[in-house]
Amino acid sequence: MTRTELAAILARPELSDADIVALLGLTDPEDCRMLKEAAFNRTTELMGPYVYYRGLIELSNICTANCRYCGIRKANHAVERYTMTQEEIVEQAVWAARQGYGSVCLQAGERHDEKFIEFICACLREIHVKTKSPLLPNGVGVTLSLGDQPESVYRRWAEACGNPESLRYLARFETSNPELFQMLHSTPGRNEKNLEHRLECLRSLRRAGYQVGTGVMIGIPGQTLEDLCRDIRMFQEIDVDMIGMGPYLRSEGNDLEALGQMEPKALLQLALNMIAVTRLVLGPVNIAAATALQAIRDDGREMGIEYGCNVVMPNLSPQRFRKGYQLYDNKPCLDDEPTQCASCLEKRIQSRGREVGWNMSGSSRRYLRRIGRPNEVKPAKDYTPDGRRLIRLRAI
Ligand code: SAM
Ligand code: SF4
Repeated sequence: MTRTELAAILARPELSDADIVALLGLTDPEDCRMLKEAAFNRTTELMGPYVYYRGLIELSNICTANCRYCGIRKANHAVERYTMTQEEIVEQAVWAARQGYGSVCLQAGERHDEKFIEFICACLREIHVKTKSPLLPNGVGVTLSLGDQPESVYRRWAEACGNPESLRYLARFETSNPELFQMLHSTPGRNEKNLEHRLECLRSLRRAGYQVGTGVMIGIPGQTLEDLCRDIRMFQEIDVDMIGMGPYLRSEGNDLEALGQMEPKALLQLALNMIAVTRLVLGPVNIAAATALQAIRDDGREMGIEYGCNVVMPNLSPQRFRKGYQLYDNKPCLDDEPTQCASCLEKRIQSRGREVGWNMSGSSRRYLRRIGRPNEVKPAKDYTPDGRRLIRLRAI
């Protein structure tokens, strides 16, 4: 493709499947730069200059499922299992709120037992009460990422959260290719996954009032550019509010090690292209820069921001638990404490031309449009407890 042809594709209001596949496959540095610039500008135009924080709390690595790609799958007996206490979880959420993070994400392996369901309810209730402040009158926003659950459970958690305006759920469908999905999830045991069921979970999350987030892994062995194009079409079909996707990375503890992974440089570029094209096709959705980008390259998440991401998920899990949450090899920030992660991140974000949306829960504009509310962004003359910033912003 010539540069003139590429410029013509990037200028189109709607991309065809052939355009999408062509953009995903770009490798020439100048071509990739053009794609990056188009996606960054579209993000600024649709989403504004802010990158929102979701403080990530990896509350437990106990899982009843056996997804073959995942380092904490049930059959990996080398992992020492943990569950944070309610006190530890709430403490991290309160810390995040005080730092000006507008929202947190509670993530864990998948469990369906009543004890776990009620435990999450109790954490949500306490987080809501303890994170209310003049800057966050409804408490911190919450994203849950706790796997496939019945709609009744999604509803219980939604009720317990107490902040329906900023309630989100992230459940990646991983790949829209049913054969690939089957290859990734066909494992012995009772909790084998099924693509249609995952999609039904996303529909029930919408019915239960959540902002719906999903995503895929990029560079799965056997995955093609056409598969990734269909993934983007599926994001459109589901009408998602937010997307979290990142490169597939091998892991010593997974069951796909023998299949290897893409060469890191090519994998990173493919993941960045996927982010950019998703931004161009999907428009005003939130797109998270996955930690897995940082596992390939130190500034991988910042590159994600340049290619169209507007959300990052700083890891708040206490350091002693991090070794237990190794989804893939070389997961970053293993030795950092949350405070270190937070302070270096703002500078990194600013270095790429964005500002942190302090105290903003950061709902996607697609969601705000769906519920018929404009995005309110009001300057609030407040001081942080540590005096780090004089002016912060308040928004829904
Ligand atoms: N258990 C919940 C679920 O599966 O939705 C949430 C936690 S799960 C660890 C979160 C995501 O980690 C998965 O959706 C998957 O895409 C990602 N993940 C797991 N193993 C991975 C790997 N080897 N490389 C990249 N991403 C991986
Ligand atoms: Fe469990 Fe999620 Fe890992 Fe699957 S991806 S094994 S559900 S933690």
